[in-house]
Formats: sequence, C-alpha cells, structure tokens
Amino acid sequence: MPQLFGLPPARVTHPVCGALGHGACEFEVDWMASLQGAKRAALALTAGSLALGAAGALTTPLLLPIAGGVLIGGGAVVAQRAITFTSRRVKALETRVREQHDAAERLLASLGDLSSDLRLDEVLDQITEKAQTAVGGKEFALLLGDADGMHADRHSGIPSESLAALEAWATQSSGELRNGAVVIDDLSTVAPLAGLAKHPELPLGSMCAAPLVFRDDHLGVLTALAHGSTVFMPGDVAALTAYAAHAAIALTNARLVERLERQAAEDPLTGLANQRGFQRACVVEFSRAEREGGHVSIVMVDVDHFKAINDAFGHPYGDQVLCGVADALRASVRPHDTVARMGGEEFAILLSGTDSETAYEIAERARAAIGQVPITDRTLRSSAGVASGSAPAVTPVQLLQEADRALYEAKRRGRGQTVASDDSLGAISASS
Ligand code: GH3
Ligand code: MG
Ligand code: MG
Repeated sequence: MPQLFGLPPARVTHPVCGALGHGACEFEVDWMASLQGAKRAALALTAGSLALGAAGALTTPLLLPIAGGVLIGGGAVVAQRAITFTSRRVKALETRVREQHDAAERLLASLGDLSSDLRLDEVLDQITEKAQTAVGGKEFALLLGDADGMHADRHSGIPSESLAALEAWATQSSGELRNGAVVIDDLSTVAPLAGLAKHPELPLGSMCAAPLVFRDDHLGVLTALAHGSTVFMPGDVAALTAYAAHAAIALTNARLVERLERQAAEDPLTGLANQRGFQRACVVEFSRAEREGGHVSIVMVDVDHFKAINDAFGHPYGDQVLCGVADALRASVRPHDTVARMGGEEFAILLSGTDSETAYEIAERARAAIGQVPITDRTLRSSAGVASGSAPAVTPVQLLQEADRALYEAKRRGRGQTVASDDSLGAISASS
C-alpha cells in the first residue's frame, strides 16, 4: 500500500476497469479513508493543496510507468482514451488550482488593505467593503458586541427588519459563534432568521457568519448573506473565517490607537481635555465658524490663592478641590462647549457660537459655581478673562493670548472678578 507523509496506508480501489469493457482503467487512491475525526477534518482543509500536488504528480516522469502499465493491459484504443481522460482531469485540477490561487490573491489584497489603516471609522468601513472582494459578490453585515448584545455597525444595504433579526440571532448565538463560523444553508428553516428569506425587497436564502475574535475578546461577527440557498462552499467559509480573524486584529489595533489618542488629549486628574485636547477642539470650532460664520469665545479661569489650600490641607486635598472645580465648570456650560485644564489650577473654556456678552455671563456663572465647591474653612474664589472673535479674522492662538491677558488683568485688579478683552479695539476693558 502506498504511504504518504507518515499517513496510514492508502486505500486503493479500482471501480472502472478496461479489462471489463470500460473505456479505461480508473484507480481511486484515498489516504483519508482510514483517518478518524479531527485529523480527517484537519486534512480536509488542506485538500486544495493536495490537489495541487496531485496535478503536478500526474505529469512527473516518475509516475508515467504506472500509467504505462495500465495502457499495455487495455490496448491502443484504451490508451488513447486514457490519455484524453487524464488530460481532462489535469485540466480540471488546473482550473481548480487557478480559482484557489485567485481567491487567495483577493483575500491577501483585502487583508493588506485592512492592516494599512488605523483610524477606527476607516477600518470599520473597510471590513465590510473588502469582505466583498475577499469572499465575492454577497451582502454583508458587520455586527459589533457591547454589554447589550450584538449591534449592526456597517452593512451593504440590508433592510432594517432583516438587520434586527440578525442582531437578535447573533446575540443569542454568541456562545456558538465564539467556537467558529456558522453556515445556514436555508434561512427559511431557522425560525429567528426566516424573515430574511421572506423580505419583499431583499430576500436572502443562506448565510455564513464568522466571529471576530482576538485573544479572548469576542468583538463581533461578520455575516455574508446570499440570495439563494446552499451557496456557501467550504472555500468561502475558510476565506470568511480567515478574513474575520484578520479584521478582529485590525479592529483591536484601531480601538487601541483611538484610546491612546483620547488619553493623550485628556487630563488624567479631572478627565477634562488637556492643552492638546483644547487645541484640537479649537481647530474644529474655528473651521466651523469660518464655514458657517458666528462668534467664538474663550474664557480663561484661574483659582485665586490656590497655593494656600495646598499649604493648609495638603496636595491630595488640593487635587480633590481641582476635581470639584472641573465639575463646577462642566456644569456651567453647554454639552458642545469644551472645558480644559491647561495646567495647575488654570482652566480654559471654548464657547461655540458665543459673542462677548454671553461669554462674560458664562464666565460669571462659572466663577459662581466654583464658589460653591465645598472647602473646609473658606469660599473658593477665582478670576476669569474673556476674549471673543470670529474666524478667520482671529486665530485660536490670538484669542487664547487675549483671554490670558484679560485674566492677568483680572488678577492685577485684585482677583475675584471677570475681565473682557474687546477684540475690535485690542484693548482690555473692565466688565465688573
Ligand atoms: P493666584 O491667585 O495668583 O493664582 O495664586 P495661586 O496660589 O493660585 O497661584 P500660584 O501660581 O502661586 O500657585 C499655583 C498652585 O497650584 C501651586 C501648585 O502647588 C498648585 N498646583 C498646581 N498643580 C496642582 C495639582 O495638580 N494638584 C494640586 N493639589 N495643586 C497643584
Ligand atoms: Mg491661581
Ligand atoms: Mg495659575
């Protein structure tokens, strides 16, 4: 019995025989038949590459004498038929190898695209878009998991009712999906998904769902849906599984980058934006003001005699007071305004679409709120400087400098007050 790569001996059968009147002799050589369970399944996955080897083997001189032996037994006519038969099989194998090669190329190209981006939104777009290239011409939905279950994040135009059914199914099946891809050949036979098959605009017949798992994190599930039933072949399942595994890595990286970027723009003590976060918010707000018109204001606020609080109660207590000030400032502005801790006990507020008078009122409201922060033996006092302008006449740097000068003026005038800088005159004027 022929042996190959340490496998058990092959089983050889001879179902078609020239001596018995058939057109040619045909031998079946099967190394898989004697294997059991997982090993057999594992080898089945490499069947494509074995087929490639077989295509080469049929043309190698080493095996020609075996073919020759068959020919002598069958005579000249049988020999001719056997050659035709063999070349047909070689052609079929070549076509299959070419198809597999093309599929692998498509998969590799789409995996490369996925890895090349680190922005979360772009990566999510790419996962669904490139899945179509990797697995070919189907509908796709990317569902991402959170504490409430699986939610459709991107899709290729699947109706909302079908998406809702998919979400419910993926949430229920997340344990099963964690173990690998799930193929449903006929969606109408699975109760929670039967609606997909009946949808009047986009009836879908079958589905292959591959989990996005990275290490122990089950991030979501990528579903490929086809119009007919029994569409997904083992090659499609393998391609979608490989693609989803790679998508999980790309998604994890993009989420990590986003978290690091967020942390880099955040003050760790108070959770407010830091200087970097404030600059970024200014860029966004000033370009909005340039497009849509309208004023932008900046208020700088500094706690008066803060050093005395540290000296009296210690640095950790001072930290708690700073957190209280941050909360008071947050509560004094609208959700789309930006409050930042610029350093120490100095804060900045970016007020979108706000003129000088309104900004002054907000600064006073903020100082009153700071006065309510509970402290053991005193009332917390603060000073503020306000500057207003409109883009592109004024830049963020100029406005920040003006607000800073106004704050300095408030300190100089005795603290506990707000000073507004009149941007049209470039002069500082007392507002209270
Ligand atoms: P002024 O009214 O002139 O602003 O006086 P001030 O004491 O508030 O200002 P000064 O610049 O003299 O001192 C600021 C103090 O803020 C000194 C420093 O120890 C304290 N500080 C800076 N950062 C932190 C921090 O993160 N935590 C705490 N607890 N204190 C800080
Ligand atoms: Mg101070
Ligand atoms: Mg200060």
